[in-house]
Amino acid sequence: MNPRIQDVKVICTAPEGINLVVVKVETTEPGLYGLGCATLAYRWRAVKHLIETYLKPLVVGREVNNITELWQLMHQNAYWRTGPIANNAISGIDMALWDIKGKMAGMPLYDLFGGKMRAGVPVYRHVDGADVDEICENIEKYRSIGVKYIRCQCGGYGGSDYGKAPSWAAKGALDGVYLDSKKYMRDTLHLFEQIRIKEGEEIELVHDVHERIHPTEAVRFVKEMEPYKLFFMEDVVPLEHIDWLSRIKQTSVTPLSQGELFNNPAEYKKLIESRAIDYIRVHLSEVGGITPSKKLQQFAAEYGVRICWHGPGDMSPLAHAANIHIDLAAENLGLQEWSGIEPPNFVIQKLAGPRGALLEVFPGLPEYGNDGFVYANDKPGLGVDLNEKEAAKYPCSDEITTWTQTRNADGSLQTP
Ligand code: MG
Repeated sequence: MNPRIQDVKVICTAPEGINLVVVKVETTEPGLYGLGCATLAYRWRAVKHLIETYLKPLVVGREVNNITELWQLMHQNAYWRTGPIANNAISGIDMALWDIKGKMAGMPLYDLFGGKMRAGVPVYRHVDGADVDEICENIEKYRSIGVKYIRCQCGGYGGSDYGKAPSWAAKGALDGVYLDSKKYMRDTLHLFEQIRIKEGEEIELVHDVHERIHPTEAVRFVKEMEPYKLFFMEDVVPLEHIDWLSRIKQTSVTPLSQGELFNNPAEYKKLIESRAIDYIRVHLSEVGGITPSKKLQQFAAEYGVRICWHGPGDMSPLAHAANIHIDLAAENLGLQEWSGIEPPNFVIQKLAGPRGALLEVFPGLPEYGNDGFVYANDKPGLGVDLNEKEAAKYPCSDEITTWTQTRNADGSLQTP
């Protein structure tokens, strides 16, 4: 069997109110197709346009077997390479080709990747709240369904909701998400002190700084968080200032993770080689799909650096499944971020769309086992399908993104 690519379709859907971009690659073999994630939620039309206008004519008629060749072809075809829009577009086709290869082999992807290194994938969940009591209440809800790793944030990433500048901001400051980074650090230190008092040492804790402080502040803040023995602290500096990480690493034993915003493998290389981070965060579609992510996973393994793939709500279940397949077969899995479907009647996360809609649009999403682990189904390929009729019920929106408009007290922009 040597099928060729017959058509490339882009399906955009927002079952939970978040824009998702899915690619369907159809082949000359009747009934054989693959699905991939090309979600750049906040520029979805640009990705769709790039795939339909430039990538589809490039790949239609070519053999589905040659994934590495096709990836490289798409990557260098515009001469200028990488970038979030191009990489997400490539990812959609790349993942779909892996899905097709798995279906042709009759194997789930973890089998194609060398087989299982583990039975289930340990995951962490997100807890937020207005104060320590609410946060601990939510931690206990997750502990009651077996969750062993929890990311704790106090009031999101420490800023206000988007809106008018607060009274403590400079006169004339523009609308935004307002952040007092000193207060954020004080509140977070207090939060983790209280969590350890109330929840003990057995629960593993994660915290995401989300680049919202200056690297100078990060040096001290990471050190001050040491007593709370975090599993890791994430994105303590903006991606533009990753050279600070080696300095931070020398002053603190708190494990560090970074990388969900990177889109060029070169951005990881130095950090991995110098062991300036402990966990690489990769947003699969942002780096161009499964093909480059597998290379990064194997490269990191050579240096004893572990993987913890990005798993937020603004990526499709196809990418969540791809994460789980790589995790299952990786010798250097650290942990997996998980924003999947909760058990029935278990409500913590607020959704913009109807609960359960995601599963109707994407049947086959890997499942949380109520024991701290996520399990892939054993269907060939990614194991996730797309119900196009259901997907059409949830159109994407073109609202201007506001949560990224983070500002400091003087009104200046801060990385989001
Ligand atoms: Mg993050």
